Amino acid sequence: MPDFHTDAIIVGAGAVGLACARALALRGQQVVVLESADAIGQGVSSRNSEVLHAGIYYPTGSLRARLCVAGNAMIRGYLAERGIGIDPCGKLVVATSAEELPRLEALYAQALANDVPQVERITGAQARALEPALRAEAALLCGTSAVFDSHGYMLGMRGDIEDAGGSIALRTPFERASRDAEGFVVRCGGAEPVSIGCRLLVLAAGLGAQAVAEGIEGFPAALIAERHLAKGSYFALQGKAPFARLIYPLPVHGSLGTHYRRDIGGVARFGPDIEWVEGEDYSVDPARKPQFVEAIRRFWSDVNEDALVPDYAGIRPKIHGPGEPQPDFSILFDDAHGLGGLAALFGIESPGLTSSMAIGEYVADGLIGVKG
Ligand SMILES: Cc1cc2nc3c(=O)[nH]c(=O)nc-3n(C[C@H](O)[C@H](O)[C@H](O)COP(=O)(O)OP(=O)(O)OC[C@H]3O[C@@H](n4cnc5c(N)ncnc54)[C@H](O)[C@@H]3O)c2cc1C
Repeated sequence: MPDFHTDAIIVGAGAVGLACARALALRGQQVVVLESADAIGQGVSSRNSEVLHAGIYYPTGSLRARLCVAGNAMIRGYLAERGIGIDPCGKLVVATSAEELPRLEALYAQALANDVPQVERITGAQARALEPALRAEAALLCGTSAVFDSHGYMLGMRGDIEDAGGSIALRTPFERASRDAEGFVVRCGGAEPVSIGCRLLVLAAGLGAQAVAEGIEGFPAALIAERHLAKGSYFALQGKAPFARLIYPLPVHGSLGTHYRRDIGGVARFGPDIEWVEGEDYSVDPARKPQFVEAIRRFWSDVNEDALVPDYAGIRPKIHGPGEPQPDFSILFDDAHGLGGLAALFGIESPGLTSSMAIGEYVADGLIGVKG
């Protein structure tokens, strides 16, 4: 017997879990968010680039393409309405040699096919007129790319959930869920373990998604996507920020490439790179600096390597291994796993932060029907 009932339990208080909880709460559902950490947004959502992506990279029609383009617009609107920090700086994706031009053209075609607004193909000279320190043969200028205060965004969503009568239980790990006639009985750990009954259950546990899915009675083991970890390290630049816009090279396998950004506090950083790892170690190895310098020199020849200092790292919750094609976000409803009332999310890596609000609506639509 559960200790009490609610309409919906969301496992994970990262950007995605909060957005799912907010969407359900704003549709009249009583929500409880379970979070094992002692604060919201301390997982993958606290170790990223805080970039609102435009949506240019992803296969047309994929969830990543659709939810990124939609999420970008939704979050921009939300930040403006709430007065949360954003630098609408835009981004330049640069081809730094003639050999890279065909790949830049292909990316431009992909952006157009994805209906990404405000994307322009510009020459190297036009790019240098915008950013004089830049090396570029040609570039894409993406007007909707931006840097924002992701923690302010998550705090805003927390407030919305609580204003709608929902609650966020910190230091409360999901342990397991069984089925009953009403839906699910979720056993939570922590200092005061309880069992909560609910009709709807959302698994938005980031790097913990596979462990949580294994604890759900009846969840088909074959649908639990294998977890692969790809670490991304950042180096900060001491001194004056060299560019106003985001500067990205062309993407590499599994990553958008070691890029430049100036966060809303004014700190200039480079990263993330990509390193396939076995465990969750967030230290930044200073020995990676030469690879950073080489990557940065391609688009900024004046970089002073002494000004680069190891900063922080994040880990991508991937569901593909090195060399394998990158799959779409995996968002599974009962047509896939057969458990009515459950949405299970795996592999919500980039552009998961940008897509989060659109993922919330998509999950709410899938669980309780499309908004009229
Ligand atoms: C290096 C890097 C750079 C990135 N840059 C960008 C970017 O610039 N723009 C962008 O759009 N995306 C970016 N991303 C992707 C983006 O950060 C993620 O897609 C997004 O933050 C995922 O959010 P989430 O809520 O799914 O996961 P998380 O933020 O990890 O949230 C999951 C939560 O679940 C909790 N949890 C886990 N297990 C349990 C349990 N058993 N019980 C209770 N709680 C549990 C965790 O503590 C955590 O708080 C980047 C990712 C990385 C790694």
